[in-house]
Amino acid sequence: MRLCRFEGDRLGVVEGDSVRDVSAALDVLPAASWPVPPGDAVIAHLPALTARIEEIVGGAPVRPLAGLALMSPIANPSKVIGAPVNYQKHIDEANADRNINFGAEIKGIDHYGLFLKANSALVGPGEGIALRFTDRRNDHEAELVAVIGKGGTNIPRAAAFDHIAGYTMGLDMTVRGTEDRSFRKSIDSYAVIGPWFVTKDEIADPDALDFELRVNGVVRQSSNTRNLIYDVARLVEYASSFYTLYPGDLIMTGTPEGVAPVAAGDVIEMTMEGIGEMTVAVRAA
Ligand code: MN
Repeated sequence: MRLCRFEGDRLGVVEGDSVRDVSAALDVLPAASWPVPPGDAVIAHLPALTARIEEIVGGAPVRPLAGLALMSPIANPSKVIGAPVNYQKHIDEANADRNINFGAEIKGIDHYGLFLKANSALVGPGEGIALRFTDRRNDHEAELVAVIGKGGTNIPRAAAFDHIAGYTMGLDMTVRGTEDRSFRKSIDSYAVIGPWFVTKDEIADPDALDFELRVNGVVRQSSNTRNLIYDVARLVEYASSFYTLYPGDLIMTGTPEGVAPVAAGDVIEMTMEGIGEMTVAVRAA
């Protein structure tokens, strides 16, 4: 099943070029009261929600997909986890380009660990990217995103997929510079997630997905998730060895070679096998 979000609080099932508005199924979610439990309620209650969706989807209103400004399908993750330099060819290009490395030797993910992006940076493709610091280099980073389903801590590699609800795609937008990654990658709109959430039953092997990113029609990044240094299961194991994971937590798995700047007026297109395609407009903030 492919779930999307639009118009703030509308939940849709994507079927080809159209969307079934199944927002009525959200009535299975418990009423929120303070303090809300950490995590995303849609993902935390996915089994009950999908059962209700299956009951109503046949009669649900149909909307053309093309007319909807899609938002991040995960509305309230407790955290957005980033994996730095998790493809060898990206490490190589970073070390070859002073405008990426700023004089530092770029090592591997085992050296840096993971980082967090501010939740306030989350947007969907329909909202676009609002660039800040346009006198500096603002780069795209195309990434597979794993969505945690069942929370946990110290999750062993062998159990990692029991804790994944599904997948989506992400743009880990980055202003280059000397500040910590977390700061540079947390600008509003610098975490583009979408276009929809795909339940894990649709993706047999997340570590074997072709993906591509184009800017204004020109291919910039093209790789396969088999080139990940820490694969999806290792990232779940590694992240949960430091922090408890909650339903809806996002793990942005890292980007391959080909990172490059974007400017206001550019249009980014990203495609990934098993997930789909999203188009994201870039503007000045
Ligand atoms: Mn990244």
